[in-house]
Order: sequence, then structure tokens, then C-alpha cells
Amino acid sequence: MIRINENYLKLKASYLFSDIAKRVAAFQQTHPEREIIKLGIGDVTRALPSACIEALHRAVDEMADDDTFHGYGPEQGYSFLREKIARHDYQDRGADVAADEIFVSDGAKCDTGNIQEIFSTDIKIAIPDPVYPVYLDTNVMAGRTGDYSGGRYDGIVYLEGNRANGFVPDLPTEPVDLIYLCFPNNPTGATIDKPRLKQWVEFARAHKALILYDAAYESFIRDDAIPRSIYEVEGAREVAIEFRSFSKTAGFTGTRCAFTVVPKSCQAYTNTGAEHEVHALWNRRHTTKFNSVSYPVQRAAAAIYGEEGRRQAKEMTDYYLSNAAVIRREITALGYDCIGGENSPYIWVDGRTDSWKFFDLLLEKAGVVCTPGAGFGKCGEGFIRISAFNSAQNVEKAMQRISEALREAT
Ligand SMILES: *Cc1c(COP(=O)(O)O)cnc(C)c1O
Repeated sequence: MIRINENYLKLKASYLFSDIAKRVAAFQQTHPEREIIKLGIGDVTRALPSACIEALHRAVDEMADDDTFHGYGPEQGYSFLREKIARHDYQDRGADVAADEIFVSDGAKCDTGNIQEIFSTDIKIAIPDPVYPVYLDTNVMAGRTGDYSGGRYDGIVYLEGNRANGFVPDLPTEPVDLIYLCFPNNPTGATIDKPRLKQWVEFARAHKALILYDAAYESFIRDDAIPRSIYEVEGAREVAIEFRSFSKTAGFTGTRCAFTVVPKSCQAYTNTGAEHEVHALWNRRHTTKFNSVSYPVQRAAAAIYGEEGRRQAKEMTDYYLSNAAVIRREITALGYDCIGGENSPYIWVDGRTDSWKFFDLLLEKAGVVCTPGAGFGKCGEGFIRISAFNSAQNVEKAMQRISEALREAT
């Protein structure tokens, strides 16, 4: 008899985006004349930089000729890409990361989801709330949690974000083994400063724990005081893995390319305390289960590190950041507290009411779709996330409508 992995039955069904779609569809049905502006989803809207498109075209032409054709590439990624990443993203910024510590992949979602399988199932996990659901759900699937009740899974140490800590969680009060952190954060847009990130690194070192640092939104950082990589913090090379992606950096959400940094100095332990290189474990897992990213896509990603590519990619994040500034300015002018929107494409608004009530208000009165914070965890209740991923014109229009609606409502 074929039996299932019963851990899947513990998963709380994720109705967030389907519930949003249902409410939007219902509203559209009763108000067919209303134009709806979507500031809800975390997907980019602008075309790929032309430097990437040119590199893609060239690579496709290479694939069309027997003499320049590429079959399977190295599982960890082509060295032309890994070397550029190591130099531009790390070494040039004073972070000690070598090309052979970089694993190119088809997404940070897969990497943040898959990495847990190289660790024991009976370790203690610390996960932020609110959170990008991948970290939590993949640990539920692996059997690292108990049942779900009262908005929480048994066995998880929740790192609570709230107004008091500015959605940068405090250190756990108990020892943990694996810690998920994401900065600039999705959904809150919060960033972490170096002294606070250093506290996490020191905590991990003291407890022989490992930090999984999701830096998918690193390219939105403009403030030089904010660390772009956890490896800017001394001592992090022994206790941190970093995830990055070209998805939000350069519009690759539909093209797929990302990478994970696993320093050779990261150690994990057996039951008896014997040390093992995490790099070797991940290398084994990656090369066994993955055949890397297509050659044309790796060429397109490498183009981002050229002079033109860098300028174009920055122009793209500048565009979204200027949308974020408009959203932040209008929300603040209306008297609402928010975080994010600076060094991040997300604005996290304290709605001072139930998340879904605020969502409905914006939909019905302004025709604008946001994301209810409660969908990202218990601590998201009362907040909404507004995304800057849309055209400047739509963002201006949406904010004008929200201003009118909220002034009327109060
Ligand atoms: C968008 C996003 C990613 C990137 O995912 P890809 O699979 O690389 O597209 C990773 N982490 C977070 C928190 C994100 O929001």
C-alpha cells in the first residue's frame, strides 16, 4: 500500500492569494466599471534589462550551432557567472567569498526550501513571524513541527516582529539550531543594521547554530550603513548561508536564476559532535538532484555584472524604489504608521484594524489590491503590505484613490 508523508496533512492550507483573488473577482462582478490596481503580488512588472536580452540572444544563437552548442553544464553553475558573483557582490565589498562557494540555481525559493534537508529532523528551528511562508512550510513537510493550532505550529521557535522591535526580531531566549532571517524583509520591508546582525552572528556562534540569510532584496539597499550581505559581519563565514536571486534584482522572476553561498568554513555536527563541512553536504545534494540553470539564462545573469547591465539593473530598482517612496509619503501623510519602502520595494502599513477589513476597505473604496498582513503569520495581523511593483502611473493613481478613500473613511 502506497502511503503518504503525513506531515503534509499538518500544513495549514494557504488561502491567502486565492482568498484575495476571490474577493477581487466578487468585487469586479458587482462593479464591472471599476478599474482595479494591483499592489498585492510580489512579482516584478518591468521588462528584462536590454543587456540581459542581448546576452540571451547571443547565447541562443550559440545553441543553434554544433560548434558552439552547450549541453549539460557544471551543476554548480558556469564559472563565468560564479566568478562575477564572487568578485562584484562580495570581494569588491570586502566580503570574503570565493567563486567555488557559490551554487547557481533556478531560484531562491527552491534553495531556501531545499536547504533544510541536509540537516537533522530533530533540530530546533527559529522562524520569523510574519514570514515568507516557504521557510515554515518546508520544515512542516520535513516533520520538524507538531500540529497547527492557534496560528502556530508546535515545536517552532517563532521570532516575533512587532511595532516595538520595528519588525527586526529579538534574539531567542532559548538555544536554537537553525535560524531563518530575511533582510530587506518580505513582507515588512524592514532592514537590519550591522550591530544587530552582529548579535545574531554571535548568538549562532555561541550555540553552534546556523543562520539562513535570505538577501533576495539586497539590490534595493541604498543606505550604505545597511549590510548587503551577512558576510560583511565578522565571524559570519562560520555560521551563515546566504541566498540571493536575480528575480527582484533584475526582473528574472520568469527567467529563473539565483544563487546560494555556502562558505567552506561553515560546520554542522553529527549526534556525537563530529564536525562536517556544510559545503560538502550541500554540494552532494545539489549535484545529485540538480542540473543547474540553462546556459542562455546564466549568460543573461552574467550580463548584469557588465557596465551596461549594472546601470540598467540599478535603473530598474531605482524605478521601483521611487514608487515605494510615493506610497510611503502618501500613507504617512494620511497619518498611518508604516515601515519599509526605503531600501525595500514593500511598505508595511499599520492599518489600526483587522488586516482583512483594511484590505476590503482599500478594494471597495479605492479599487486597490494589497496583501493582508495576517496572511504572513499571527504577528502580521493589523497590517497590510503594499508592493511597489507596478508602473509609476498606476502607483500614483492608486495612492490618489487611497488618499481620497481613507480621508472619507475617517
Ligand atoms: C521573491 C523572493 C525570493 C526569490 O525567489 P526566486 O525563487 O529566486 O524567484 C526569495 N525570498 C523571498 C523572501 C522573496 O520574496
